[in-house]
Amino acid sequence: MPMKVLFVSSEVFPLIKTGGLADVSGSLPNALQRLGVDIRILIPGYPAVLNQLADLKSIGTLHHLPHIDHAELLLGIIKETKVKVIVIKSAALYERNGGPYADPNGLEWQDNPVRFGVLSKVASILASEHSPITDWHPDIVHCNDWQTGLAPAYMKLTEHSRAKSIISLHNMAFQGSYAPHWVVSLGLPSAGFSIEGFEYHGQLSFLKAGIFYADAITTVSPRYAVEIQTAAFGFGLEGLLSQRSDEIKGILNGIETEEWNPEHDKYLIKNYSSQNLAGKQEVKAALQQSLGLNVDAAAPLLGVVSRLTHQKGLDMLVPHLQTLIDQGCQFALLGGGEMGLEALFQNIAIQNPGRVSVTIGYNEPLSHQIMAGCDMFIMPSRFEPCGLNQLYGLAYGTPPIVNATGGLADSVIDSNNAHIANKTANGFVMVEASADGLMACIRRAVEMYRNNKDTWLQIQKTGMSQNLSWDKSAQEYLAVYEGLV
Ligand code: ADP
Repeated sequence: MPMKVLFVSSEVFPLIKTGGLADVSGSLPNALQRLGVDIRILIPGYPAVLNQLADLKSIGTLHHLPHIDHAELLLGIIKETKVKVIVIKSAALYERNGGPYADPNGLEWQDNPVRFGVLSKVASILASEHSPITDWHPDIVHCNDWQTGLAPAYMKLTEHSRAKSIISLHNMAFQGSYAPHWVVSLGLPSAGFSIEGFEYHGQLSFLKAGIFYADAITTVSPRYAVEIQTAAFGFGLEGLLSQRSDEIKGILNGIETEEWNPEHDKYLIKNYSSQNLAGKQEVKAALQQSLGLNVDAAAPLLGVVSRLTHQKGLDMLVPHLQTLIDQGCQFALLGGGEMGLEALFQNIAIQNPGRVSVTIGYNEPLSHQIMAGCDMFIMPSRFEPCGLNQLYGLAYGTPPIVNATGGLADSVIDSNNAHIANKTANGFVMVEASADGLMACIRRAVEMYRNNKDTWLQIQKTGMSQNLSWDKSAQEYLAVYEGLV
């Protein structure tokens, strides 16, 4: 009998995406399905989800959920991957304009504890004897991040589920901490509101609940699994994580090689491969043209696609960017987030017409074009649970320039002499997480790009020929599931 897995996530590509969590939640279930796992995703019924799923049909109704009278369960299928999806349809909770976590002005939805409390509760019910779905009972409930963190608590404390739970930590910075009155109103037993439970500094913490009650914990890179057990990266939960150290496994994310592949990327005017990189020059020229940059094949073009937040470390680029531009580099940024940082970059663009392009917003096609058309990709994150963009950079022959943390440290091998000699070098790793450290690293890359074309090509090809697909990671998740049941 194939293993049955309920994969619970608040965002799943291509249905709805704000970041890497969606990429993982789109790809990993698909890869597990290829391995023979009988998997279903559970997701809230946001308008984008209801609109995009094929063959939606009702499979039951749940009553007496926290704060809402009932919710309908729909079963649909993702057209691209044929993965089955269970959707929680509740007009009151999920059918509104705006993003999954915030309104169109970027303000967090006030009822997020209910919206994601219900997501967690439904997951636990589907893993219990009271599930309205009678012909499919999961062996494993695979939770992701704080939005699903209450599911392991409900499974253990209120639904007494026999299924095992696992929580994957994609980013410890987001914890879902709310006022204590939510404990009762979300139907959690007040006995759990303690250090040995879901209480954290007087608040109800969704993430702590997940970490405390789940049967297994995974992180999205091996390095991050170690880092989060320290005060610098654990966001206050390092003590609990250290206690559960033996149950934490780091599994590096893969990338969706159908979606992110320069050989058949539909957003590029020309496709290319590690055998023939000529097309990359054409993509670069087209990108320079469309962004209003001077079309100049020789100018090192530095790229960024990122949320603009403290985590991503791009403020470290600001002090020296003008110097790099004055030395003949070009810069293309796509992203959005903190308004101060957006304004800083926009200002640099205004002062450097033809040499700096800054696009604020979310743009899937442009993200592919920057990844392909740039010569190097900059990602100086202060912490990075896994990071996908550096993996895309590797696949697209756009060597990443990264800080030595989390998944960046696990995937980027610095182009020092030893690594060049043994042909493992695939990018550039900062020695120090500072503006000067980043500048020194970019200088090294630019110098090599300009003066050592053969080595540059070797670095590009090393990244492009790596197996970055999900298949290996999915095997590791399957091994975690098998260890639990
Ligand atoms: P995080 O999840 O922390 O934001 P990751 O590197 O893990 O960072 O994943 C980010 C994902 O979101 C990537 O697929 C990246 O291409 C995408 N992304 C980020 N910002 C934008 C944007 N402004 N437009 C399009 N895609 C974006």
